[in-house]
Amino acid sequence: MYLNKTTKQQNKNNLILAGEWIAIDLETTGLSPYKDEIIEIGAVKFRDGECVDTFNSFVNTSQKLGAFVKSLTGIQQSDVDNAPDIESVLATLKIFIGDSEIIGHNVQFDINFLSENGLELSGDKIDTLDLAHTLLPDVQSFTLESLKLHFGIVSSKAHRALDDAIAAGELYLKLVSIAENLNLFVLKEIEQLSLRSSWQLRKFWGRVVNCKIDKTFSNEIKNDVEVKYRGVNISRFSKEKISKSKDQISDEMNQDYFDWMEKFFGEEGLLNDVLDSFEFRPEQLQMAKKIFESMENQGNLIVEAGTGVGKTLAYLIPSIVFAANNNKRIVISTNTINLQSQLVNKDLPLAMNAIGSIDQNFLKGFKFCELKGRENYLCFRGLDKAITEKNISVDKAKLLSKVLVWLTNTQYGDRSEIGLISSKYLDFWARISARDEKDCVGINGACFLKQARQNAYESNIIVVNHSLLISDMISGSTLIPEYDLLIIDEGQDIERVSTNHFGFELNQSSSHDLFIRLFDNVEMLKSFDLKVQFESAEISEISDLCEDMKTNTLSIVDSLKKLFKEIELFFEQGSKDFNRKECIRITNTIRSLPIWSDIENLWEDFNNYIDSLINNFSKLRLKFDGENNNDSKLTALISDIFKYKNLVEDLKIQMLEFFPHPDENGIYWISDSPGNSSNLILNKAPFNVSEYLHKNLFEQKKSVIITGATLSDGNGFEYIKEKLGFQNAQEMLLGSPFDYKKSVLVCVPEDIPNPKEFDYQLALEESIYYSVIATKGRALVLFTSNISLNKTARSLKKSLMPHGINVFAQGIDGSATQVLNKFLRSKKSVLFGTSSLWEGVDIDGDFLKLVIMTKLPFDVPTDPIIAARSEIFDEPFTQYSIPEALIKFRQGFGRLIRKKDDVGVFIILDNRIIKNHYGKLFFESLPEINLKRTKIGMLDNEITHWISDNN
Ligand code: SF4
Repeated sequence: MYLNKTTKQQNKNNLILAGEWIAIDLETTGLSPYKDEIIEIGAVKFRDGECVDTFNSFVNTSQKLGAFVKSLTGIQQSDVDNAPDIESVLATLKIFIGDSEIIGHNVQFDINFLSENGLELSGDKIDTLDLAHTLLPDVQSFTLESLKLHFGIVSSKAHRALDDAIAAGELYLKLVSIAENLNLFVLKEIEQLSLRSSWQLRKFWGRVVNCKIDKTFSNEIKNDVEVKYRGVNISRFSKEKISKSKDQISDEMNQDYFDWMEKFFGEEGLLNDVLDSFEFRPEQLQMAKKIFESMENQGNLIVEAGTGVGKTLAYLIPSIVFAANNNKRIVISTNTINLQSQLVNKDLPLAMNAIGSIDQNFLKGFKFCELKGRENYLCFRGLDKAITEKNISVDKAKLLSKVLVWLTNTQYGDRSEIGLISSKYLDFWARISARDEKDCVGINGACFLKQARQNAYESNIIVVNHSLLISDMISGSTLIPEYDLLIIDEGQDIERVSTNHFGFELNQSSSHDLFIRLFDNVEMLKSFDLKVQFESAEISEISDLCEDMKTNTLSIVDSLKKLFKEIELFFEQGSKDFNRKECIRITNTIRSLPIWSDIENLWEDFNNYIDSLINNFSKLRLKFDGENNNDSKLTALISDIFKYKNLVEDLKIQMLEFFPHPDENGIYWISDSPGNSSNLILNKAPFNVSEYLHKNLFEQKKSVIITGATLSDGNGFEYIKEKLGFQNAQEMLLGSPFDYKKSVLVCVPEDIPNPKEFDYQLALEESIYYSVIATKGRALVLFTSNISLNKTARSLKKSLMPHGINVFAQGIDGSATQVLNKFLRSKKSVLFGTSSLWEGVDIDGDFLKLVIMTKLPFDVPTDPIIAARSEIFDEPFTQYSIPEALIKFRQGFGRLIRKKDDVGVFIILDNRIIKNHYGKLFFESLPEINLKRTKIGMLDNEITHWISDNN
């Protein structure tokens, strides 16, 4: 390890690093300490933060090394064959380590292997993975490789014991330096959390606090003039209210600015000066003019812009010019977080820069912002409650510590800034995220949610996502400041998002948890010392009321169990009768069955208890209404209890609809949770959303513009306009400026069996295997089902590994974003994805040469929403299934060519496209391309020739 002189000196004087400690790493034949064996051990001795000695040895194993281990580590069979046995290696290692502190990345893994082989180490253990997770709140990946990259730590060989041990030691030095730069109050909070939860790192945090006290205590206390929350300066999060009132908005329009579109997007356009890659595209100019014109004329417009048109700037520049000139507020809604942050962080600043170059004063006072749903922002009050709760688990202590570190730097308190990689953290986040509390003004006036909404009030352009757009519509426009111009990008997704919002999912286990949590809160209230606020007679009344609520809550839990027990019986029987394993649609026929009456009777019992509980809530409200309460803990507790009241009322309404009073526009079904058949879910979705959207959204705005790359079904916009209820809209269909005939080869192997045939899977794997070897990875494989993806990934991971090609599969190797990032970081890899990777993914042509579509993307006909919606068509397959599939097919195809010079191959492994009469519609929906009917065995040849001839 090469540390410079100053760093060495600093480490020497650092009390956290004082004394001897050992960084360690093992290579093993697998992940189980009981079945697998150690093959190499590396350890580095540090004294006062300086490397003084190393230990490295291979270990003789009884098992033969597998291909994966050899390829991952580079260790060969001969290396371990000639090595000493584990007993003698561990004997030497024991002397080397002594009773020093042990540092390692995911150190428990190494400790378990050593312990299983008889070596118990007495020194304290410090896990750099744990430490990094807390100290680097904005980092998303915590593998040793990613963290080395993050800190610029260079080591010669990854996955070799000594190099990784050195890297872990160096990583520890970096993390210690971050820890000691945190402020003392935050460190003390973390130390307290670690002590209360018995976190393994408690001694470490104690040491950091002590060093910090020695070094900086007096400075921090004396300079403490800011408003602080647990040591963090929060005065920056309280905003003065300035509202962009409706009166300021003028209705006058200025036609002159129409000419500006030519100035920006024309052949000698100004975008040339701010965009290195700018090219004149007539489609872009046409789109920008049309959008400006629609805003001026207060009209609706639907515009499809093929890949490469540059649609984002084509709507941003007219929007900014129009909003600035007329002092209007425009809302832009997107579906994906990626596009939302690209707009805010890249495209909007760029567009403003270009406009500013014409007239610097034009954009004076012009503001834009991003606004998200409240669950995205941290709530100080929720955080405070979580920190002061009696029981703190280790996981909770870790998350709260991470949040406290993050709080020292965050500007917006937005969840996307903090790496919450595990689902247990996401669940916990829900408890500390922002809520709408009428009476709360935040902590000392600071509140991230209020700050975000205030920013929106001051902005001319507000970027939101579809989910917030629809929630705002449902809430009666309480979430987004008033606006009358709306641009919906990624418009193809608005129906799906609306369907989710107008429906519900009533989960058996979360309903049960809701009442358990309510019970705990009421119990807390009962034992709360209320002497300051109430007379003793009233305290006794509140206590009785709490007791009553607890009894009611227990009865609800009991009747909920009985109700779901009956539903479970029905579900099991129904699964057999209807041959449906995952869900049963509740139609009118089912509602007339005797078993359904039994279910409704049980629901009635449940509903009676709910009514009593709601009555209890009302009585409680009377006790606490108008009470001048200065106890913040009591205020938070009461506010939480009434938050449960809202949830209980929502549950009552949904159950009422699901059982005795189904809505005519509703589709209802029961499903089980994936992987947990005893947790049933009651679901509702609307038949169609067109009426809601038309009446409550489109009709309420002066101008709505819907855009996207795949809005038409190859036959125009009638289908999408109909399903969205988007009326009186002008249409514009702009094809891509790319020359697909020159850049894309579409291949269909004629000998691929029909997807329903038993030998299809083998042929599918064979086709992917040869194609991917021909492109040396750099491929995206799109699946229509998780089952097929999992099966294919399991098989191809093994067979492609010896070729040095990694398979990253969505759902197996991480979420869509995580696998995409892994794919982009790896030189030779294949990305396997389902629904979310069919659209909105923009992979550079150097990384992507091949897109394989495993099946034509028809929806599953037995899906309750699909089945119900199909019923309203005379010819469901032609009128519903095909248009939906065509749109998705075009989205999948669109992943391949993202830039003018990209070249690639698109393979369709579904013979229905050439054998069935509707197949030609799919080809017709594409731009002009080269089509090659071939054989599976020829795919690699076709690919190799096409790419080498056209690159
Ligand atoms: S206003 Fe709402 S989000 Fe803000 S601190 Fe209070 S409860 Fe939390």
